[in-house]
Amino acid sequence: MKFVNQFVLFYKNLIVYREGAYERGYLLANHRNIVVLDIIIAIGVFAAFSVGSVIGQTLMFRIDGIVALCLSMVVSAGVGLFALNSNRSNAALCMMRNIAIMIMLLGISQFMYYELKSNGSLYVYTVAAILICSASNLSGKANGVILLLINANAYLCMHASSASYHFALMNETIVNPHYSYMFFCTVIAWVSGIRRHIDYLMIVRQRVRLKIASETDPLTKLFNRRGMESFIRRAKYRGNVGAALFDIDDFKSYNDTYGHKAGDECLATVASLMREAAEESEKQPVIAVRYGGEEMLLLFFHDDKKKAMKSIGHAIERLRKLKIKSGADAVHPCVSLSCGFAMSEKPLGADTELYYGLVAEADSHLYAAKNLGKNQCMS
Ligand code: GH3
Ligand code: MG
Ligand code: MG
Repeated sequence: MKFVNQFVLFYKNLIVYREGAYERGYLLANHRNIVVLDIIIAIGVFAAFSVGSVIGQTLMFRIDGIVALCLSMVVSAGVGLFALNSNRSNAALCMMRNIAIMIMLLGISQFMYYELKSNGSLYVYTVAAILICSASNLSGKANGVILLLINANAYLCMHASSASYHFALMNETIVNPHYSYMFFCTVIAWVSGIRRHIDYLMIVRQRVRLKIASETDPLTKLFNRRGMESFIRRAKYRGNVGAALFDIDDFKSYNDTYGHKAGDECLATVASLMREAAEESEKQPVIAVRYGGEEMLLLFFHDDKKKAMKSIGHAIERLRKLKIKSGADAVHPCVSLSCGFAMSEKPLGADTELYYGLVAEADSHLYAAKNLGKNQCMS
């Protein structure tokens, strides 16, 4: 289920192509997953085009031409208008736009062939496919409009190539060089359209990777502050927020005793506990941030204090169970965490300054926890 969610998130964001839009799921997906997802997407795109073409061909020769034209215009206008007017932009709507284009193409080709007794649709398809393909190939830009063009191009080419084959069969002129030539052109346009599509996905992936890199702390793989701020700005949650600031007890002594490399490993271990605590929450987002050197923050985008305290308790307990021997001057025999928790009294919206205020409050509780002998959480 987690994999499916990750896939949906990833694909949704690729399709939606909002600049820098990505959800928490990205930080969970490692590079191997991303490559696997890309391959699945490539196969999916190919399968969708093939299925679309088969359905198109079946419909094309079953319905009366003028009826098909009217029906397709009404349906595609309805679907297209709905998709364009909706101010949401997600995968389903994008798909609807594509379906609208496809239905319209089917209607036109049906009408041309049966009513006008012409296979002009074939020429229209071919010329349009080649023009669109050239336009998208010549453009150095990689944006949503180009992706839409590439999609349209792939649909056109698919139809043009299958239609040319169909017409040739019906006229028993499969060897007619005219048809073969068109078939050849459209297949080339289609292949290059798909290639461009994949190129585009690669560019998006690269962009996403850069964004992830700039918002992730390399040692702990948690959000850094930039990542935290960017998440806050994107968050749709508008309720009260909880903040738990953690600090590793006597970490300087740990470093002094075992060296910085061991210190780094210890930090990474504690960070993985933070990440687990964040991932525990399935419905409401919780993010784990490396806030300072050995200070980590959990931000709870919900107002259930009991639930937050429970997950803080789990993290502290898990660390206790690991029984990592602490440094020579430490007050506790094993590496431990102190924590300060604060819950906002009003919604913080997307105002990062208010979040920093809340963290300062959590920090004062953390200070109290340290004074009371460390290895505990105060709120
Ligand atoms: P307290 O219990 O009061 O928090 O004591 P402390 O020793 O943990 O606190 P202090 O602020 O004196 O020391 C924090 C240490 O964390 C000092 C610094 O060397 C270490 N530290 C910060 N970032 C890193 C890091 O990335 N890697 C390693 N190995 N150590 C780090
Ligand atoms: Mg500290
Ligand atoms: Mg410390």
